Amino acid sequence: MFDRRLHAVTTSRELIQRLADAHGISGFERNVRKLYESYLAPVSEELIRDRFGGVVGKKTGDASGPKVLIAGHLDEIGMVVTHITDDGFLYFQTVGGWWSQVMLAQRVVVHTRKGELMGVIGSKPPHLLTAEERNKVVKIQDMYIDIGVKDKEEAESFGVRPGDPISPWGPFTPLANGKYFMAKALDNRLGSAAAVEVLRALQGQSHPNVLFAGATAQEEVGLRGAQTLVHTVDPDVAIALDVGIAGDTPGMKKTEALSRCGEGPILLIYDGSMIPNTRFRDFVLDTAADAGLPVQVEYVSGGGTDAGKFHTHASGVPSVSIGFPTRYIHSHSAVYHQDDFDNAVRLVAELVRRLDASTVEDIQQY
Ligand SMILES: [Zn+2]
Repeated sequence: MFDRRLHAVTTSRELIQRLADAHGISGFERNVRKLYESYLAPVSEELIRDRFGGVVGKKTGDASGPKVLIAGHLDEIGMVVTHITDDGFLYFQTVGGWWSQVMLAQRVVVHTRKGELMGVIGSKPPHLLTAEERNKVVKIQDMYIDIGVKDKEEAESFGVRPGDPISPWGPFTPLANGKYFMAKALDNRLGSAAAVEVLRALQGQSHPNVLFAGATAQEEVGLRGAQTLVHTVDPDVAIALDVGIAGDTPGMKKTEALSRCGEGPILLIYDGSMIPNTRFRDFVLDTAADAGLPVQVEYVSGGGTDAGKFHTHASGVPSVSIGFPTRYIHSHSAVYHQDDFDNAVRLVAELVRRLDASTVEDIQQY
């Protein structure tokens, strides 16, 4: 049971902070989902869950209108314990996409049945490597986690078991100018928070459809929860809310990643999991122009979002993916710009206000 007073949030930034600081790697979303539901429930008629860890809040604008699904994903990338050495160090399997270069010396939280343990990702120290070895990237298989125990028995006494989840530690932190924020798990607590904020923006308003807004589970391991959630909701159209790659950092080519932080939400025009419905794309761009909201387009040749599963459900569900330009995703310290989040919420709420039966029918006449 959650005390609503403890969970009353006043700003979208505060909601993002609480969700990003919560822990829940793919397959272990239970705790973050409980927290998430405490924000989703007050702005929904009812909560609908699949049997996989996904949840949506329902809001009926017009009961005879089309069904609209908007969803982020609750899981974050992490690891699971695979082996405890005799000396008490933990070897692990990565869960979701990790790049070895962002892992060493980072702090992690090991979640055991007896509680949470802090740890650090270690490797053989550079002082003891040959010059040749030092110029090579340390392989993930050669990394381990040090939780500060003397041996295996002591690690086990704290509850550590193979199969326990491990999540990054990286508290939500404001950066210099007050618009940029740094945190772990922005991929994709941002999208999950946006679904709640869209429901909140529509409170007391009518819309010509039935809205299902929430989040899937296990996106990072191959869009697994998108399949179960889209089956549960069976929508007429769907919007995945997820982070995009900001292209405004040093070393990026203008043609590689097109979006810049602070210049608006992203509409994906192509990714490795979906060729978006063109009419739906045009509807999003026209709505943004009409409402005076900024929007950027982006493409990713590899990777994908939950829309990759949404759009192939049943006989086809026209889908788009809308998100937020984000730096350093899949690391302990991702960075986003608050204006992009707020404008994404405004844009998606405006889309929901306009997705009536004839608009959806037009999008479906693809
Ligand atoms: Zn991701």
